[in-house]
Amino acid sequence: MATAIITGASQGIGACIAKRLAKDGFDVVINYYPSESSKEKALAVAAECEAFGVKTLCIGADVSKFDQCEAMVKQTKAEFGTIDVLVNNAGITKDTLLARMKEEDYDAVIAVNQKSIYNMLKHTCAVMMKQRHGRIVNISSVAGLYGNPGQVNYSASKAAIIGMTKTVAKEFGSRNITCNAVAPGLIRTPMTDVLSDELKAKMLSAVALGRYGEPEEVASVVSFLASEDSSYITGQVIEISGGLSM
Ligand code: NAD
Repeated sequence: MATAIITGASQGIGACIAKRLAKDGFDVVINYYPSESSKEKALAVAAECEAFGVKTLCIGADVSKFDQCEAMVKQTKAEFGTIDVLVNNAGITKDTLLARMKEEDYDAVIAVNQKSIYNMLKHTCAVMMKQRHGRIVNISSVAGLYGNPGQVNYSASKAAIIGMTKTVAKEFGSRNITCNAVAPGLIRTPMTDVLSDELKAKMLSAVALGRYGEPEEVASVVSFLASEDSSYITGQVIEISGGLSM
């Protein structure tokens, strides 16, 4: 059985990806931020995944911390033997205009959204290299492609993910490891629930399909990129935005 790690999988897009990959037949590692409430949610996601007949492992780890990522990868390898798919999904926002943005809010977003990718890649690629097989999918954002007022920290982190994706694709291609990114637009999750109605309406007016995306619509693209059907695709960024900013 193949194994997939999904970071930040206790809710939102990550939870949906975990369930989709479980449906696809992967044993899934559901990473959650180490807190009681996230653990409870992760266990509920695990129960839904197990309904597809796969094994699950819930691991509490703050992905901004190098040693916690190392421990998560080691535990996964010990439990399941292989790591076939890594989905770097965990992310946060701390939005405000640059003029008002505090240094700690800039640093926090970079640590969770960007440094975490290094932390996870560093340890997972070592395992995938030995296997001579791996699929990596990084969750970027349209903010990383086009920028977004109030998100200088977030868009910096998401643009960096695109550079990292292309570099890893080049470094590990000869080892049969693919690395791609997806750039979702406005997806209905707890992260976007908190946006003001005014901002939601403004953003929706630029979406050709005229509606929010659903987490399942991100998960289906990740499922494809995690599968053998995408074996000749690497270093790419696939926008899932309903035609935003065309
Ligand atoms: P969400 O807030 O519902 O989920 C984010 C998850 O990351 C949560 O489970 C949270 O606990 C986890 N997390 C946060 N910090 C963590 C840490 N330090 N260690 C481990 N886990 C941590 O948001 P979402 O909308 O589901 O976002 C998922 C990903 O998709 C993020 O990377 C986000 O930037 C990206 N994204 C979302 C949208 C959108 O419209 N919702 C658009 C583009 C990109």
